[in-house]
Order: sequence, then structure tokens, then C-alpha cells
Amino acid sequence: MPEIYKPGYLEAIFGPMKSGKSEFLIRMFNELRYSDIKGVVFKPAVNTREPGIASRGSDMQLEAIIIDEKHPEEILSYLENLECKFVGVDEAQFFTDNLVEVIEQLIQKEYHVIVCGLLLSFRGEPFGPMPSLVGRAHRVTRLTAICEYPNCNHYAVLTQRLIDGQPSPYNSPLVLIENSGLSETYEPRCVNHHQVPKT
Ligand SMILES: [Zn+2]
Repeated sequence: MPEIYKPGYLEAIFGPMKSGKSEFLIRMFNELRYSDIKGVVFKPAVNTREPGIASRGSDMQLEAIIIDEKHPEEILSYLENLECKFVGVDEAQFFTDNLVEVIEQLIQKEYHVIVCGLLLSFRGEPFGPMPSLVGRAHRVTRLTAICEYPNCNHYAVLTQRLIDGQPSPYNSPLVLIENSGLSETYEPRCVNHHQVPKT
């Protein structure tokens, strides 16, 4: 039987919108239910879409502890009082860069850590601490989606932001949350169909 818990181990899961990241994370933590290993998942407060972590493609859900994205060090204090060695961080791209130091401390303390999120922003550029975390990971899982541009169906590695159905310009804010009252939507796109107007 494979070991689920690897001490001081970092795994990174990344891919564009609708690539199944949440489903992947939920499956990993569901496996723990059949072991006596305890796990906890954290997510940033900025992502107010769901109280927990839900997979769009299925009815799977996972409870998550909400942390202020500007203070990822609160993850360390939260864990102080828990008997838990398996830690997940979802939507890791929204945390400040201090998350990298927090994760390094968890690795030193022999936690098995799984970080999950977007590697690239809607601009197609490195997103928050994710690239630094992927670079430190012992195992990396790269997920792809299918490009939603009409009649494309190519593999998508990028996330397209649309506002009123039109590509969001480069200089619009880095973080906008879906269903926040604005009319923005996100969809996976291949490199050929990813549009970021510079005007
Ligand atoms: Zn395409």
C-alpha cells in the first residue's frame, strides 16, 4: 500500500479554471478518511465563492478553514493546537508572498503539504506565490482544461477573464471574484485564444 503521508513533503497542483484542481484536492483529502491521518485545508478569505471547497464537475465538497490572505502566517498558529500532519492550501495564488515562508516552515516541521491554485493570472503572468511554491515542490501535478473558444477544443493552459463577454484589458485589477456582483466570468483558453487587450 502506498504511503499517503510523506513527512516534509510539498506537492503542488496547478492548472487553469475548470481543470479539476478542486476535485483533485478533495480526492486527496477524502483518501485520508480511510486512514488515521488527520488533515486540514486552508483557503484565502478573498475567495468568497463558497464557504468550503466544492468541485464544479461533481457534488464533492471539502471543509476549509478561511484565512486572511494578507496573513498566511495565521496558518502556523492555527496548526499549533491541532494534531495534524497533512495540510492543504487551496487558491494559494491569492495569498501574499509570505505564504512561501509559511510553507517552508511547515516542511521543516515535517508536515505533508499540498498547495493548489492558478500558476498564471488572467494576464498570463506569474500569480502571487504560486510559481515560487511550484519551484519548491517535490511533486508537481499540472492539470489542463479544454479551451472554451468556439470550435477550438484544444488543451487550455490559460485562464481568460471576460467582462460582459469581452476580454478583460491588461490593466484591470488582478483579483476580481466571480459572482461578486460584477459581470466578469472566467473560462479556460488555449494559448492561441487567450486575449488580453493592452489598451
Ligand atoms: Zn483555443
